[in-house]
Amino acid sequence: MSPLTSTLADTTTGSRTTAELFADHVMSTYGRYPLTLVRGQGCRVWDDQGREYLDFVAGIATCTLGHAHPVWIQALTEQAQRLHHISNLYYNPPQAQLAQWLTQHSCADKVFFCNSGAEANEGAIKLARKYAHTVRGIPDPVILTAHASFHGRTLATVTATGQPKYQKDFAPLVPGFAYIPYNDMEGTEAVLNQWGERVCAVLLEPLQGEGGVLPGDPAYFQWLRQVCTQRGILLILDEVQVGMGRTGMLWGHCNLGVEPDIFTLAKGLAGGIPIGALLAKDFCAVFQPGDHASTFGGNPLACAVGLAVCRTLMLESLVWNAQQTGAYLRQGLSRLAERFPQLIQQVRGWGLIQGLQVRIPASEVVKAAMDAGLLLVPAGPQVVRFVPPLIVTPAEIDQALALLESALQGLAAAHPRA
Ligand SMILES: *Cc1c(COP(=O)(O)O)cnc(C)c1O
Repeated sequence: MSPLTSTLADTTTGSRTTAELFADHVMSTYGRYPLTLVRGQGCRVWDDQGREYLDFVAGIATCTLGHAHPVWIQALTEQAQRLHHISNLYYNPPQAQLAQWLTQHSCADKVFFCNSGAEANEGAIKLARKYAHTVRGIPDPVILTAHASFHGRTLATVTATGQPKYQKDFAPLVPGFAYIPYNDMEGTEAVLNQWGERVCAVLLEPLQGEGGVLPGDPAYFQWLRQVCTQRGILLILDEVQVGMGRTGMLWGHCNLGVEPDIFTLAKGLAGGIPIGALLAKDFCAVFQPGDHASTFGGNPLACAVGLAVCRTLMLESLVWNAQQTGAYLRQGLSRLAERFPQLIQQVRGWGLIQGLQVRIPASEVVKAAMDAGLLLVPAGPQVVRFVPPLIVTPAEIDQALALLESALQGLAAAHPRA
């Protein structure tokens, strides 16, 4: 073993298993599957027993280029050798170039970089509040978010998240939020009228990911865009899961025919290196020096990798691939839905974020698929989510569908009248 690799964590952990070390030393915030992964390549990962899995989770819609993509590795290692972190006391070229790419390819004019989706949404919430106070003169601004939404786990973003199961036990929550029914014009209008002049922003996902892979309705979003423009309300879109080409369009909002004033990115932006971004049009990019900051945010390493992901999306036509292979996946899932109506209720999604609404607990389908060699992730209690890397091929989709079919056959036998 070379001196360089000897400092890396070994895949063996002495007499104790990895799961045992977790039980002893890692906080039990996650209900983990009994699987220890040690290696990945493309759309495949391997466990510590050498068993291969097709990875249709991709680190939860994060590994845009799959595992160990040569361009991604090159960007990471070259930048690591040149300069990896300097703080935001100084300029660095990769941050400038990534911000330029993002603004040239979107409706936004300015970017703030951070490290995660929750942090990007925190930034958006602060920006909207500053805009409310300084531009609109609203002393007690309210931000509207949707029921069944997901915006993160910090106190403000878990308050924005309209799902009581994530908020339970963390009171007092952050004031200044109210909830609207997603895709429901009348219900939204009623809440808008209830809060009146205090409403400074509406924060929504273009497609609700964690809430069950529920696509936004273009008519609803276009109506809301008009209402926001008329009343001076900021439309903020959380693109953390659906941005970066996943839906078959570069941004989730391209599926809706609306432009946000502010939007946020994270998951897929650097293909698995922690990064988040808050993007805004110039008229509402009101942060001044000292208003907001992040030590790690926008460091050369994360931004160089992010830039490599962005350029690879274009060079390898991965947004187009997400559209084509997404449609192919959708067809295959629809065939399975016809074949197993006792298990599957509906297929929905955009591009390479597809959901199976099932009639049994989603976790049972995920476990059976895992046993068959296919990694999937639930999106709520009764939806199974498919979010493979954007490099996925039709042959890999065929294989995933075959593995899922064998899992469903077993489940159909176990649930004859589910
Ligand atoms: C995952 C997710 C977040 C939170 O991102 P973190 O990086 O886990 O903080 C926020 N919004 C949406 C839509 C997400 O899918």
